Amino acid sequence: MHISFTDLTIPVSGTVAAGIYAGGELSSAAQALDKLSNGSISRALQADRFNGDSEQLLNMVAPANTELERIVLFGLGNKDNPSHLAVENAGGLFAVKAANLAINTATILLDTDEQAAHFAYGVMLGGYRFDKYRTNEKCPAVLTELLMGSEKPGQAEHYFRPLLAVAEGIYTTRDLIWEPANAMNPESYAHFCRSLTCEGLEVEILGEEAMRELGMGALLGVGRGSDKESQLVILKHNGADSREAPIAFIGKGVTFDTGGLSLKASASMETMKQDMGGAATVTGLMLALAKRRAKVNAVGVLGLVENMPDSKAQRPGDVVRTMSGQTVEVMNTDAEGRLVLCDALTYTQRHLKPKAMIDIATLTSAIAIALGEEIAGVFSNNDELVARLTAAGDAVAEPVWRMPMGSYFSKRLRLYVSCQHNFQQLSVEILEPC
Ligand SMILES: [Zn+2]
Repeated sequence: MHISFTDLTIPVSGTVAAGIYAGGELSSAAQALDKLSNGSISRALQADRFNGDSEQLLNMVAPANTELERIVLFGLGNKDNPSHLAVENAGGLFAVKAANLAINTATILLDTDEQAAHFAYGVMLGGYRFDKYRTNEKCPAVLTELLMGSEKPGQAEHYFRPLLAVAEGIYTTRDLIWEPANAMNPESYAHFCRSLTCEGLEVEILGEEAMRELGMGALLGVGRGSDKESQLVILKHNGADSREAPIAFIGKGVTFDTGGLSLKASASMETMKQDMGGAATVTGLMLALAKRRAKVNAVGVLGLVENMPDSKAQRPGDVVRTMSGQTVEVMNTDAEGRLVLCDALTYTQRHLKPKAMIDIATLTSAIAIALGEEIAGVFSNNDELVARLTAAGDAVAEPVWRMPMGSYFSKRLRLYVSCQHNFQQLSVEILEPC
């Protein structure tokens, strides 16, 4: 999609869209269109009970006295308390509508340059499709040309540039998640990461031999049943003073999770190509930081493995040694995320010396039982970091919710494990945090 910024001129033909504020108040472009069409916009709003809520969209065929084809009206929410999210939401809804109506090009007119930037960002997020492998169901029409009109086009473009970087990061994350596991495995994922050097990221990749030397027995144990080599990818963005310790983001990258010998049931396995969502999020995030030239030092560490059953696969009851030196008795080979992450975390702590570590993972579906699909659970030992993550999440409608941690849980787990087995010493080791 090509997005360009222009002034507030009503186009002579094609599709034009303008906003309506809460209470049905017309934006300046909507007023101009209302005048041009002899009041048909005001009549349409009334007939459709359109009140300007940010979830509303109204599509109308342009009146006969103009050369325009279509006028689309979208809700902008409260005028006195403007919200970027409401504008982005309108952009997302417009993108979906444009695909349904086979609109290829459109001009969107907005009151402010900031609104123009955020609307375009919303169109990008809402207009995402993954059509790479479709042969006969390609999207019939996608928006190819978006013209954003506002007061000062140069200023709108300036606001849009960092948002575009974030959108490109999000596209990369989504692409990686949608790629099927026969195309995306630890080796091909690492190969893709190498290409990120062109975007300005420093990329380092450790294969199985290097990880063996470092003693990463837990991560390596998970990948034993796969014929694809496990990988640890380190992405660095150096945007601040080199003496400043980086913030580290660690991502779980199980490119396919069969459960291993503790094999999942068919239905639970269907979406398991997405068990690398944490790694994909970290990859997209690092790319966005590089594209925005963010003034921060950040590292992304991806633990990439494929969890397959095979004669070489690790068995329930196997004991592996982590990089930190602790032993773990693997009771269920489907609880593999923690094994990948504990070694990735130890590596990050020892070799990258970050000031904070944020670990992003599709660790357990049980979190969705507690919080539903919309909210991510956070476990943390740092109140300030959680407060900042919560505020950042609220600002972009990606909420997080802190979950409890405490010694009371450890006690229950310890009892549970030692009741099941008589290896009391071993069970204590399992429960020590990695
Ligand atoms: Zn699993």
